[in-house]
Amino acid sequence: MSLLVLTHNDCLGHRPPEGHPERPERLEAAWRGLNQIDELAVKDARPVTRAELDRAHGPNYLERIENLESAGQRIALDPDTHFGPGSLRAARLAAGAACQGVDSVLAGTATRAFAVVRPPGHHAEAARAMGFCIFSNLAVAALHAVSGHGLKRVALVDFDVHHGNGSEAILAGNGQVLFLSSHQSPLYPGTGQIDAPHAANVRNAILPPGSGSNEFRDLWLEHLLPELDRFQPELILASAGFDAHWRDPLAQLQLKDDDYYWIGERLAELADSHANGRLVASLEGGYDLQALEASTLAFAEALN
Ligand SMILES: [Zn+2]
Repeated sequence: MSLLVLTHNDCLGHRPPEGHPERPERLEAAWRGLNQIDELAVKDARPVTRAELDRAHGPNYLERIENLESAGQRIALDPDTHFGPGSLRAARLAAGAACQGVDSVLAGTATRAFAVVRPPGHHAEAARAMGFCIFSNLAVAALHAVSGHGLKRVALVDFDVHHGNGSEAILAGNGQVLFLSSHQSPLYPGTGQIDAPHAANVRNAILPPGSGSNEFRDLWLEHLLPELDRFQPELILASAGFDAHWRDPLAQLQLKDDDYYWIGERLAELADSHANGRLVASLEGGYDLQALEASTLAFAEALN
């Protein structure tokens, strides 16, 4: 069964100010990567429902966002996260695509799904937007898998170069979800240190600036993949950020296109071992367009 890609043209409609790294052209670069694969099933993403958002985000935050949309306001929700006409529609589709991916792999209409969307999600916390993210797309999807579908063991792995502070904060203490993250440190947002207090269902692993393929692969092989294997997930979710690539302007890791094929293949193998193959990934970061195109292609090929 071929990889199901969930995406939507309206994800282009979220338009931060000129010069912002999280720009609509990122999505077009990811699409160019996917277009190089012959057999892909591509579907329009659906918007997230309010009930799905309510599992991860507070009502005051959701109402504030809805009011801003109704007022047609253009504002900065945090120093990095801009909101304007089209932003709520894009954010609803980004979170909805991840939930739709969960629905599809649990219904058996696809084995793996890749939500190729923006804005990204893993920095958004329960009550605030942060770091280009409005809704915590994969935390919403993890809670949808647990509360909406009744799964008992859902793993969320995050290989974006930044720590997924929002995913961690929303899922911390939830015994049905395991959160695993590798990230550069020091780097924004500064959380996810290995000696920082964290919940029992959280595993963080850090890479110093300058780390490359060997360090990344060793970290996953020695620390994170064995934890994922022991957890025996019924479903694997992946925060697929491609900003650890050597070309990326926002961080200092040195990964190559191949490393994204490698991590995709490792995750697909563990999904095959424990989860009937079920894996749902969602695009997070990746701010060099050429690297984003090639990395999206490499990762999707590993899942296909
Ligand atoms: Zn990132």
